Amino acid sequence: MARKFFVGGNWKCNGTPEEVKKIVTTLNEAEVPSEDVVEVVVSPPFVFLTFVKSLLRSDFHVAAQNCWVRKGGAFTGEVSAEMLINLGIPWVILGHSERRALLNESNEFVGDKVGYALSQGLKVIACVGETLEQRESGSTLAVVAAQTQAIADKVSNWDNIVLAYEPVWAIGTGKVATPAQAQEVHCELRKWLHENVSAEVAASTRIIYGGSVNGANCKELAAKPDVDGFLVGGASLKPEFVDIIKSAT
Ligand code: PGA
Repeated sequence: MARKFFVGGNWKCNGTPEEVKKIVTTLNEAEVPSEDVVEVVVSPPFVFLTFVKSLLRSDFHVAAQNCWVRKGGAFTGEVSAEMLINLGIPWVILGHSERRALLNESNEFVGDKVGYALSQGLKVIACVGETLEQRESGSTLAVVAAQTQAIADKVSNWDNIVLAYEPVWAIGTGKVATPAQAQEVHCELRKWLHENVSAEVAASTRIIYGGSVNGANCKELAAKPDVDGFLVGGASLKPEFVDIIKSAT
């Protein structure tokens, strides 16, 4: 089954209105492969979501960086899945390692969030990944399997999930995983999906890589058979994001 290449830009907590306008202008003017070949999603901070959505070319889409675990209400500071849907925001990133580490989001909490967001009609970029300590102790596969299991526990339909493998040691460090390291984990994750969910889901689910992806290293990573795209942080704020989109072909 063909898996359409997916490139997400995670802007994290960055950007002034002027900077945001500049990034969007660069994207709008870029010549990139068509929507049939690559799916492009950018994820600005909440306050810029509608601004970006209104300016951005129609073949690119927007994602929120988080949403609440259940229906909205008395949850000060949170944004619900329903609100995103009402604003026409199709995607959300959930389980990013920064939120897992800094805001103590557990595997189970992330699983609940993914399940709820999907139930409301959002598409989800669900992130998994091990720390350096976990990699060095040989538990990478056990860690990403447990994170994926917690998501699988809450999900019956995988059509609207993109799984992002983001080793924590590679995020924002400039230390990108080698293509072989990325391929190894992606292949194991696909095997895990095959054994624990279904052959169809394993074949059709996009598994994208994140962690210090840039214009110079994307081609080699994209050439690996189980790397179906990228989730890009730092480089998604720069013109080289366009080169990363182009690595789809
Ligand atoms: P990075 O971030 O590309 O800056 O390493 C990736 C991410 O956190 O999604």
